Amino acid sequence: MNYSKLFAVKPGSRVQLAGVKSGFTGKHENKTAATAEMQRDDRRLADLQYLLYADHQRSLLVCLQGMDASGKDGTVRHVFGALDPQGARAHSFKVPSQEEADHDFLWRAHVHAPAKGEIVIFNRSHYEDVLIVRVHDLVPESVWSKRYELINEFERNLTLAGTTILKFYLHITEKEQLRRFEKRLDDPTRQWKISEADYTERGYFPEYVKAYEDVLAKTSTAYAPWFVIPSKRKWFRNLAVSKIVVETLKSFDMKVPPPTVDVDEIRRKFHADEAKEKSSA
Ligand code: ATP
Ligand code: MG
Repeated sequence: MNYSKLFAVKPGSRVQLAGVKSGFTGKHENKTAATAEMQRDDRRLADLQYLLYADHQRSLLVCLQGMDASGKDGTVRHVFGALDPQGARAHSFKVPSQEEADHDFLWRAHVHAPAKGEIVIFNRSHYEDVLIVRVHDLVPESVWSKRYELINEFERNLTLAGTTILKFYLHITEKEQLRRFEKRLDDPTRQWKISEADYTERGYFPEYVKAYEDVLAKTSTAYAPWFVIPSKRKWFRNLAVSKIVVETLKSFDMKVPPPTVDVDEIRRKFHADEAKEKSSA
């Protein structure tokens, strides 16, 4: 199965999120049955990251979006936790600082975009500027409505510079969100994650759905596609995101750079004794 194809939003098409099954798990019956495959994907991802880093020609930007408690943090931890931190970073987009607010909305995203060889995960992203900003009227419609095009141009610029962009919408229902909030209340190690603001924000769920549907319709492009990931089952969410990242990295034409020295010459010069020892052993 090709996960990228299965979950990608076709450019120009309009997804009705209410019609997407959040509990979909494909051919996998449950987490236990999928574990071996997920471990294999983790190893593949680590190998591909090594190659991306060594090749140093291109980079990967992963944007994670979704309602509160949709699992953005968990996805960062589970899918990208196995990466070598030398070539990977996660950046969380919070309420803009004064300095960030004093610049154009894409400035803070551009600063954190990946350099050659890097994988960067945006936990929330520049899309907040057409989501929360729109839902709460933080700027007039005449301002936010122009941003979709600006985002597409920004992403095209990054793409032309060698960055591949994957954008994931982690799809859960309103009901599932409430269930997760409740679980957080019951778990002393996660109570810190819940605030009253989460419940106030929840009142805007339908407005967010509308704002997300517009984002998906206007900014899923051939060069920077959106994927709608069924995220009720956390393990399936992780599996699907991981598969799409692996499929994408695999499609890159990457190679380990050639040695910068004459390997045989170095061996003769500096390792002659060991070679002798080996042959006499
Ligand atoms: P957690 O899962 O830990 O709650 P979080 O991403 O919700 O993670 P918070 O510190 O709770 O982190 O919230 C960050 C808030 O900042 C979010 O509500 C987000 O919508 C908001 N935010 C992000 N970007 C912008 C922006 N450009 N303008 C206004 N608010 C923003
Ligand atoms: Mg929050």
